[in-house]
Amino acid sequence: MAGAVYLPSPNCDARKEDVSIDLLVIHNISLPPGEFGGPGIIDLFLNRLDPAAHSYYAGISALRVSAHFLIRRDGEIIQFVPCPARAWHAGPSSWRGRERCNDFSIGIELEGADTVPFTDAQYAQLATLTRALRARYPIADIAGHSDIAPGRKTDPGPCFDWQRFRASI
Ligand SMILES: [Zn+2]
Repeated sequence: MAGAVYLPSPNCDARKEDVSIDLLVIHNISLPPGEFGGPGIIDLFLNRLDPAAHSYYAGISALRVSAHFLIRRDGEIIQFVPCPARAWHAGPSSWRGRERCNDFSIGIELEGADTVPFTDAQYAQLATLTRALRARYPIADIAGHSDIAPGRKTDPGPCFDWQRFRASI
């Protein structure tokens, strides 16, 4: 995306050729959990998270995960995976009867936590990004990670204002 910082993650692969990219998945993430502004998220998505740097990191540093985009607290957009490729953000998941949401979705991470309100800058950039993606892809639905992996995932959490987001796009 024009204007985004591009930090290519190896944690992606090719989509099936005939797939329609029609779902946006909204997440939140912070590393360490509840702390904002550090390099943890980037390091995780680039497979360089130091397991010794924080007690929480030992359990996740071997994960191979990514998302297409991260929107930081100040609104900065970082892209990790080109949208035509499949990012590894959803895990086991299902939406309207279709399994493996990574196959047909674009994943957007908001730097945050379930119980902390997101920033005005994040809502503004999320709206800009969503509009750009809808202009390019036949996005039919926007779901939270908790919607496609209920019982397993809770993000983006109760502090994400769906009404505000939907009104902005
Ligand atoms: Zn998530």
